[in-house]
Amino acid sequence: MHVERDGRRPVRGAEVAVSLMRGIGVCPGIAVGPIVRMPDPVPEPPAGPGPGDRDAERARIQPAMEAVAAELRARAAQAEAETKAVLEATSFMAIDPGMLDLATAGVVDKGLSAARAVFEAANTFRDMLAAAGGYIGARVADIEDVRDRIVAAVLGVPMPGIPDPGHPFILAARDLAPADTATVDPEKVLGFVTTEGGPTSHTAILARTLGVPAVVACLGALSVAEGTAVVLDGGAGTLDPEPNDAAVLDAEKRMAARRGAQHVWRGEGATADGRRILLLANVGDPASARAAADAGAEGVGLFRTEFLFLDSPTEPTVEEQEEAYAQVFGAFPRRKVVLRTLDAGADKPLAFLDQGEEPNPALGVRGVRVAFDQPEILDRQLVAVAAAAERTSAEVWVMAPMIALASEAAWFANRVRSHGLRTAGVMVEVPAAALCARQILEVADFASIGTNDLAQYTMAADRMAGPLAALNDPWQPGLLRLVQATGEAGLETGKSVGVCGEAASDPVLAVVLVGLGVVSLSMSARVISEVGELLKTVTYDECVRLAGLALEAGDAQTAKERVRAGLPQLADLGL
Ligand code: PEP
Ligand code: MG
Repeated sequence: MHVERDGRRPVRGAEVAVSLMRGIGVCPGIAVGPIVRMPDPVPEPPAGPGPGDRDAERARIQPAMEAVAAELRARAAQAEAETKAVLEATSFMAIDPGMLDLATAGVVDKGLSAARAVFEAANTFRDMLAAAGGYIGARVADIEDVRDRIVAAVLGVPMPGIPDPGHPFILAARDLAPADTATVDPEKVLGFVTTEGGPTSHTAILARTLGVPAVVACLGALSVAEGTAVVLDGGAGTLDPEPNDAAVLDAEKRMAARRGAQHVWRGEGATADGRRILLLANVGDPASARAAADAGAEGVGLFRTEFLFLDSPTEPTVEEQEEAYAQVFGAFPRRKVVLRTLDAGADKPLAFLDQGEEPNPALGVRGVRVAFDQPEILDRQLVAVAAAAERTSAEVWVMAPMIALASEAAWFANRVRSHGLRTAGVMVEVPAAALCARQILEVADFASIGTNDLAQYTMAADRMAGPLAALNDPWQPGLLRLVQATGEAGLETGKSVGVCGEAASDPVLAVVLVGLGVVSLSMSARVISEVGELLKTVTYDECVRLAGLALEAGDAQTAKERVRAGLPQLADLGL
């Protein structure tokens, strides 16, 4: 367990040294309240023969699956964009006909109890998903959640999920399944702290969508006794399980200050001395684009088009694509919308691409590399983008994921321009692209740094691997040096360099990114006002100085502490 003494000074003559637990802060803000743990998991149904009446036992399976699917659909109906899509996908898992057949066979052929048969059938599917790895593998937690819900429904025991103790609380869990995070009421759940999960995990992304302070990979979180009053700091990434009066008072002041900083963003992002920084949003579909426009985003810095394709067994037609793109563009009239072409493969395999087995898909044919083999898919997408762009007044920019070489960037830019689209750029998420950013920017119109992948490739640490979460922390100085190399290339060539990875959703890190030369930040719409408010208080020279402190640090934790110490105004903003 990573537990530190925080060296708090004596208060009223007594030494109050407290064990401060550290994790990775993934959504800023402070929460004060009692810890409530996720309920114990649904127990594994006993193996061995079930009740003798196999017909009666078999008949219990389908209604349980349907009840769970209906509950997930009901939650989806109340959820917002990204969460909604995840829950809808999970509800389909709950009534998967293959799973029903397998569970039924478990009762009929093997004589198992209904609960055990469901358990074994779901595990068979889970193992298949895990073997697939990447994005599909990351859905293991979803299927285990579905499994436990169906088993609970068969057994008639309470569903696993977010507890409701009748008062606001800080939720401690191993990790949260999308189905759980979706039901979180931010009025009741003041914060999340998990022992697992990383900076780009579902928990992290959903916490930011909800705006709830969250710390992941905090190894000691589950050792804190139920009901203990704690202070959770999603900015610093700490959990204080024994806060003294002064610490609670300070936290409460910061909570009030943060409420003041959270509002619909109006206006333009800029530093205190007027250096313009575009504050953009990451979106995945028309609903999230409209939500981002409502939150005051100045445009879209990353439109992940593959989200529209993920559950599709066949390639969406040009007309279907055009319609979806036009709706996203339509949410931002006369504003910039950066569309990323299909980022398939690795953590996001697409059924219709039939990519086959790869020993190491994250280092395989993913992103733009698919287009080198199958350019017709890219061409159809660009036809749809160009047609959608014609229909709206949005300023459409197009970029490719996973570019490694300047020659690849030139190939892509030519292809984009041949479809009548004017602005063609690249994502910088492979270290080689950051190191050769100047050559790339000579042939591309702009670059946008994907810190999620750039972190995993720089640190040789799978972004989905919980135990390596600290290496994927976007504060790692090695990663920041590559951002600096890219930012400098942007300043030298006069081309726009932005950041669209999760790093830009951390207001304090956003200050550092600006100091490294980036001119636009694309983030979860929910945090735009906090990033904008903090940026307004810092001059560009201060950003550069603070970035220098981060670059010189020995690790992410130290980098973050040094920069936070240089920003006393964080307390006033509740960050
Ligand atoms: C990134 O890698 O930082 C990024 C923005 O792309 P994605 O998270 O979709 O891979
Ligand atoms: Mg990426």
